[in-house]
Amino acid sequence: MAEIAERLKKLPPYLFEEIDKAKQQAIQQGRPVIDLGVGDPDMPTPGFVVESLREAVKDPSNHKYPFNKGIASLRKEMAVWYKRRFGVELDPEKEILPLLGSKEGIAHIPLAFINPGDEVLVPDPGYPPYASGSMFSGAKVTFMPLVCENNFLPDLEAIAPASAAKCKLMHLNYPNNPTGAVCDKEFYRSVVSFAREHGIVVCSDAAYTEISYDGYVPPSFLEAEGAMEVGVEFHSLSKTFNMTGWRVGMAVGNADIIAALSKVKANVDSGIFTPVQVAAVEALKRSEEIKSSMSGVYQSRRDVLVKGLRSAGWDVPEIKASFYLWIPVLEGFTSVSMAKAMLEQADIIVTPGNGFGPSGEGYIRMALTVGEEKLEQAVDRVKKVFAR
Ligand SMILES: *Cc1c(COP(=O)(O)O)cnc(C)c1O
Repeated sequence: MAEIAERLKKLPPYLFEEIDKAKQQAIQQGRPVIDLGVGDPDMPTPGFVVESLREAVKDPSNHKYPFNKGIASLRKEMAVWYKRRFGVELDPEKEILPLLGSKEGIAHIPLAFINPGDEVLVPDPGYPPYASGSMFSGAKVTFMPLVCENNFLPDLEAIAPASAAKCKLMHLNYPNNPTGAVCDKEFYRSVVSFAREHGIVVCSDAAYTEISYDGYVPPSFLEAEGAMEVGVEFHSLSKTFNMTGWRVGMAVGNADIIAALSKVKANVDSGIFTPVQVAAVEALKRSEEIKSSMSGVYQSRRDVLVKGLRSAGWDVPEIKASFYLWIPVLEGFTSVSMAKAMLEQADIIVTPGNGFGPSGEGYIRMALTVGEEKLEQAVDRVKKVFAR
């Protein structure tokens, strides 16, 4: 057999596969594992969304290849939702493209813009497909470190002009995975002017805007003046509606960028199963209701875990959005040794921060994707073994 390509050899092992292996092993040994590792909601998709799929799947006309660009009613509802939620006007024909989950669009968009020698600006730590999608396209990845001293925002002024000149794309993600950080419109305005100056396409990943706490309302990149000229935003139904397995998301924003991504996709996939699109329309229609109940659940969990870990003497920052706690490791540990110790000594799975990029070293990520009772158990175990 032929050898696998250099581009695959260059990839770091996909983080969650490794964690999954360790977890499976622990479960096989019969240990009472609490998994705070993977960012996959534990709650089911709302019943009315499931019912809507059930009805739609009975119609044989929905069994054929779907429309590549998504059904008109879905693109329209996505536009209605963006207007209602962010006050952003979008043309459903030209400025909206449904995706097989936002990960797919994020991973594919470099194929639409990258030529040999080009670079992509990627947040570090960051969601893995920003870097892997860029590498697949042949781009050089230039990390933008997200550090606590700068509130986990990239320092745009620190980007070397020579590098900015070669950059074609920039990935951003607020509310942020893995740090739980948020940004304001002022930051987005500075991104717009940076992108204009250097001719960079901005890819804003807004997967967590609908999970927020204490009355905080995360903005969209597209709310910033001029954003529609320089970028697109990726959104997803996965986290908001507990629909990770359904594979439905969207790219919205600049019409030329959307057309370019659409051209790539027309050559690699054939759209989203129509009944899934029909159900997605229903989900978006009731987004406010779902959003407040989901955010309420995560907020209570956040309170349990933050309060509990602090009472164990840990330094745990508060979060205003997303369902991740980004926690500095205890003294004497690295990200990996801390994650290993927690699994071995407390049967708790967390994600080592360095798996999200070199600047993640020194942190672990905990996801609020288990119920309060389990979080309380986790806190008890931490207090027994890791109190400081
Ligand atoms: C979960 C997640 C997504 C959503 O991915 P889908 O492919 O839409 O399921 C996107 N970005 C980030 C940062 C995420 O954590």
